[in-house]
Amino acid sequence: MALDTERPYYQPVANEVTVFRAAYRQRLPVLLKGPTGCGKTRFVEAMAHALDRPLITVSCHDDLTAADLVGRYLLRGGDTEWVDGPLTRAVREGALCYLDEVVEARQDTTVVLHPLADHRRQLPIERLGITLDADPGFGLIVSYNPGYQSVLKDLKDSTRQRMIAIEFDYPGPELEESIVVTESGVGSPEAAQLVRLAGAVRRLDTATVREVASTRVLISTARLITEGLSPREAARAALAGPLTDDPVAGRGLRELIDVYLGDSEV
Ligand code: ADP
Repeated sequence: MALDTERPYYQPVANEVTVFRAAYRQRLPVLLKGPTGCGKTRFVEAMAHALDRPLITVSCHDDLTAADLVGRYLLRGGDTEWVDGPLTRAVREGALCYLDEVVEARQDTTVVLHPLADHRRQLPIERLGITLDADPGFGLIVSYNPGYQSVLKDLKDSTRQRMIAIEFDYPGPELEESIVVTESGVGSPEAAQLVRLAGAVRRLDTATVREVASTRVLISTARLITEGLSPREAARAALAGPLTDDPVAGRGLRELIDVYLGDSEV
């Protein structure tokens, strides 16, 4: 697997880089907690680059089984051939394996995660009748949104206690503004307005809003602005629409957008 030559743009928010490096050196698995769109994936990409390790990312979903991670026999021209899954490849190659939104995966995946995440660092491959020792470079990273039901509760305490948790939250206003500027190319005044709007949306009672306004949503809004849409039009399309289907909440969001982005030119 080829390494990206370009360093991913990542602005540290707190001490996450130091904690991650320490955990990796000690071969401890890392648990990234936080809402969607707050920079977890970008952080892992940046760490893989900084540590000069290949990165294998698996976006977990509710059909994902242990076999999807470990591998399976496939029919190839009349023959059956074993094909490693992404976790097995990472274990063999010494890559970082990032299981994004691990809570979505089926329960049986925890069975393969246990011996990998605890002191053994082993991957049993039942179908092949072998157990692989993880390459020293291998690192396991899982992310989840603590708001959701968690498969992690089914992890053994011994495994859970070995995991190093890094909590993510949205960057502070100044940092978020500079991220929005860098990622979208929008001007600082517009970015600052969007960050203020996000602050107001994040303070709302989120019962009817699916997710709070993430940094990702702000970047999408800013991108539409660079295409010539007014900030208000852009925020309606990239922020209000995606965040809720509820008519009342939608109206509330649009009102906030009008207040914070109004008609005034910046
Ligand atoms: P998550 O994995 O938490 O859902 P992402 O890593 O995909 O979120 O972040 C969404 C987007 O927000 C990224 O593509 C990136 O543009 C931006 N972003 C968020 N936080 C940061 C950060 N600290 N530094 C640089 N970009 C960031």
